[in-house]
This record gives sequence, C-alpha cells and structure tokens, in this order.
Amino acid sequence: MNVSDVVRTSAALDGFTEKCGVVGVYGHPEAANLAYLGLCALQHRGQEAAGIVSSDGHVLVSHRGMGLVADVFREDIVRRLRGDAAIGHNRYSTAGASHLKNAQPLVVEYGRGGLAVAHNGNLVNAEELRERLEARGSIFQSTVDSEVIIHLIAASQGETLEDRVVEALREVRGAYSLVFLSTDKLIGVRDAHGFRPLVLGRVKGAYVLASETCALDLMDATYEREVEPGEVVVLSEEGLSSYKPFAPEAPAKCIFEYIYFARPDSIVFGRSVYRTRKELGHQLARESPVEADIVVPVPDSGVPAAIGYAEESGIPFEMGLIRNHYVGRTFIEPQDAIRHFGVKVKLNAQREVLAGKRVIVVDDSIVRGTTSRKIVKMIRDAGAREVHMRISSPPTTSPCYYGIDTPNRSELIASSHDVEEIRRYITADTLAYLSEEGMYAFLGGKQSGFCDACFTGRYPVPFEDHAKHRQLVLFDAADQR
Ligand code: AMP
Repeated sequence: MNVSDVVRTSAALDGFTEKCGVVGVYGHPEAANLAYLGLCALQHRGQEAAGIVSSDGHVLVSHRGMGLVADVFREDIVRRLRGDAAIGHNRYSTAGASHLKNAQPLVVEYGRGGLAVAHNGNLVNAEELRERLEARGSIFQSTVDSEVIIHLIAASQGETLEDRVVEALREVRGAYSLVFLSTDKLIGVRDAHGFRPLVLGRVKGAYVLASETCALDLMDATYEREVEPGEVVVLSEEGLSSYKPFAPEAPAKCIFEYIYFARPDSIVFGRSVYRTRKELGHQLARESPVEADIVVPVPDSGVPAAIGYAEESGIPFEMGLIRNHYVGRTFIEPQDAIRHFGVKVKLNAQREVLAGKRVIVVDDSIVRGTTSRKIVKMIRDAGAREVHMRISSPPTTSPCYYGIDTPNRSELIASSHDVEEIRRYITADTLAYLSEEGMYAFLGGKQSGFCDACFTGRYPVPFEDHAKHRQLVLFDAADQR
C-alpha cells in the first residue's frame, strides 16, 4: 500500500514512533533520487515504512508507503518528487500500529506555508507539551511526539523558520536528530546532548544530511563533518549557515549505536563502527578467554566483534550460522511444529562446521535471551560439543527512552537475573559479557560523553513515568531474528 499527496491537503498521521533513519538533500537537481538512495543505505534503521518529501521552491510533494524503501518507491514516483531539495525517513519496526498514517516525514500546511519534518529520536516530555498545547486550543491529528514540534513551530512568533524551529525546540526534552523542509529551506538539528547521530556531506555543490555516513557513500557525497550536538544547520539559497542557539548540555552520544544499531561501514560520532566493534571483540577475548576450536558470530550483528575475538584469541573464525537475508516479518508455520522455527527462519546452523567442535558464539547483546537460547540449542543440535557464549557489551539491564526500541525492564533478562542465571536459561556451557570498563577501553573512558543508560540505568535526561510507555512497544523483532 502506498500513498502520494501534494501538500495542501491535511495529513492525518498518528501513532508513529521515532527510532529511525533520516536524510536531507539541498541544491541537487535529483534531490529526491539522492534521498531515496540515502534511505536505501539506512534501511537497517527502519523497515516498517519509508517516505520522501521534496520541494521545487513552490510546493512540497510527498510520498510515503509501508515496507522497504525499494518497495515503496518506483521510478515514476521518484520522478514526481520534483525539486532540488528533499528530506526522507525510514521508520523503525515496532510491534503494534503498522499503519501508513504512522509513516514520516510528517507534512503540514500551516499559516506560513508547507512544512515537513523527519525525526530520529524520542522526546520525553511530549505528553505534557501536548496537554499544554491542547489547553490553548491546538487540535492534534495524532498522538505522536513529532507533531508536538510542529504545533510549537506553528504557534511561534519567530520571524524566520529557523527562529521558529529553535523556539519550538527550546521546549522539548529528549533525543532528536531532525530534518525540516519548507519550500525554500532545509534545516538539520541535533539535540544538545547529541544522542543520535547526524552527519553533513557534499555532492557536486549540493549539501546532504544523513543519520549515518553509509548513506553519504551511496549518494556519492563526501563526508564533511558531524552536525554538532545543539547545532542548527540551515541550507538555503544563501548556502549553509550554522547556529548554536541552545545552552550546552553534557554530551550523551548513544553507545548502543556502536554496539548494535548503526551499520558497521559508517563513521558514527567520528569513529568507525566496524573498527569499534572489532576492538570490543578483542577486549572481550582478553577479558573472557576460553579454550575452543572455532569462533562463530551471530550474523550480522555479531560479525565484527567475532572477528576481533578470533584475531585476539588466535582461534579460527567460522561462519557456523548462516543468515537468510530475504525473509520478511511474518511466516506461515506448518501445524506440525518445527523446532526453533522462529530463529531458523533467519539463521541456519551448519553441521558441517559445528559438529564435534567446541564453539565460541559471539553476539553483540542479549536482550530477552530468547534468541540466544534458541541459537545455543540449534548449535548443539548441529553437533557442537561445547557452546560458549560471549557478548560484546555489558548486560542490558535498562530500557532506552531516547530512540532505541527495547522491551520494558521486566522483559530484559539481565534486569532481574545474574550472569549465571542467564547462562542456565540460554543453556550455554559458559557465558561472559564485556565489562563496562572494557567497553570504554577503546572509546576514551567512562567520561567520554556517552549515554549508556541501557547498561547502567543512568539516564542523562529525566522523564516522567508516562514517557516510558511511549517507547516500550517493539521487540517481537529480536524473537524473529
Ligand atoms: P534476545 O533474544 O531478546 O536476547 O535478542 C538478542 C538479539 O537482538 C541480539 O542478536 C541483538 O543483536 C538483537 N538486538 C539488540 N538490540 C536490539 C534492538 N533494539 N532491536 C532489535 N534487535 C536488537
């Protein structure tokens, strides 16, 4: 299902979450096409829905659809998204509310013209802002965080769009990397803590913004720099202007971008994700060695850390698990139950590689423990003699409220079980996690400005209790991996 609309009609959008990938292109004759490529590269940041809004200087045109970028956009659609500026968005998969109306960019027509916004992050005071705005007469079309920003912008008396954006963002708390598009400007903003990444690149005189540098690569853009925490970048006919209008905050870059979320071929927060993951694997091998015959990654997320572990330990790296990249989200299971079906759809254990071996399995994280449990069983069923699980991050004890979907605390196995209990649950012979110190060894130490709330429960931006419910929706995804 797809939908296209020229923005002059109202868009009823609700219920979307904001854990996503964003792109922006300004000053390129094929802006929408580049945005499309950027979104393809950022597909890992959201597979549920995709959208692009373009501007030809007079009118905004948008197209959004459910599913993967390559399925949502056809050539004729991209061609219809005319103009030399565009923004795009991939929506993260969540368990509920799979509706087209949840897709971004969110597009509105307000007193000063058309405006589109795409958001990666999560606001923690959206509810209270919304109540305040409604008390003043705002009528919301949805229940989502990003619409609050739009209403605040519409209510602002600021002279320029950037003034209104800044005034609006002074009110919101939480994590946001945002791109805004009006008929004549593209604005990129990163919150003052810098939770989520956002980078700036150039291609043939045009400017591009993207969540990760892997998107720049596909757009053939050169990486210029990060949009800095608290920075507002305005792209218009006058070129690029940059502002730092917000009070500086303690940096809180999401460490989980390195552990799991970002693509390994990206530079995030100025550092290669691949190299970082490999270093975590090296460190894990130093901290938790074990005698074994092979090191096997859980693909794809565990691969770089497993390479690091194998390098450091001198134990051969083997692809004992093969991932099927082409399966969708829902499966028709035969009535006669297949063992470990959920995980087998995505991963197959190779008897050829595993039989008779003492196996070290490396993954980036354990969340609920259900995948790990199935993987250990699958590897044993394939004839492994011993299965040693190694995790390239500390135990995930606390939910994220800043833009990574995690289950609530009670479902996070490490929030209520120690390592030995988790080992027993996943039925591994041994289990070891990377230590907090080990995780920081390569990242410049604990004081280097990361948000590690998922591992420590230390939340850099406080939130009301109801903010919690807004983000705890996902996580059937990991069960299906
Ligand atoms: P679980 O079975 O719940 O322990 O899931 C663990 C798997 O989920 C690991 O292979 C991780 O790579 C993956 N994972 C970690 N965080 C997330 C996330 N936020 N969304 C989806 N998958 C995740």
